Amino acid sequence: METNTGSVLDDPRWHTFNSQGFDCSCGERHVGLFAIHLHHPLGWQGGDDYAADTDLTLDGNFLSSNYCVLDGKFFALRARLPIQMRGAAPKSFMFTVWSSLDRMDFEAFTRDYREGTLNKNNKVRARLVNRVGGFPDSFNLMGTAFQDLDGGPPLLLVHGVQAGVNNEHPMIAEQRNGIGVDRMLELFAAYGHEMRVPVANSN
Ligand SMILES: [Zn+2]
Repeated sequence: METNTGSVLDDPRWHTFNSQGFDCSCGERHVGLFAIHLHHPLGWQGGDDYAADTDLTLDGNFLSSNYCVLDGKFFALRARLPIQMRGAAPKSFMFTVWSSLDRMDFEAFTRDYREGTLNKNNKVRARLVNRVGGFPDSFNLMGTAFQDLDGGPPLLLVHGVQAGVNNEHPMIAEQRNGIGVDRMLELFAAYGHEMRVPVANSN
């Protein structure tokens, strides 16, 4: 765990990452933050192919890039889970994850997206339904999903206050307080983007 609590703006690696970028184990050179997208919610047993969002059906099983229905009983939306970069707001490490909503809320949210009636004040209780890499088990962490007027997936803020479990989950603190460069590199590495290099011989 990092003990540093300073701003990433004071970390030279942050500036290098955003200007020249870092070579990555995946073969690419990454310049600046990029999002990590989780393909489907935990529990999805179907294939990897996405249907079109517009073909959404609420009975049975359905998976598109933004919506998932399991057995006509479980409803999940893709959501953006930002982890602030400390001192560099609004820059955030971004996961897109899956959030489970009650059916009524799911129907209301998908209708707002379809009809373009998004409202910043629309927020609902949502449950994170992924085990996000780089964190202790995050499945079922409670949160709130907020509509965002940019039309992108809703924003998910985790708080874990339901049922008194997971209230100490590090994702809650990191989402609120932000992370530094070491933690950022750790999260990328958890998804196959290893950019940490042995300490270079600078001479
Ligand atoms: Zn990479």
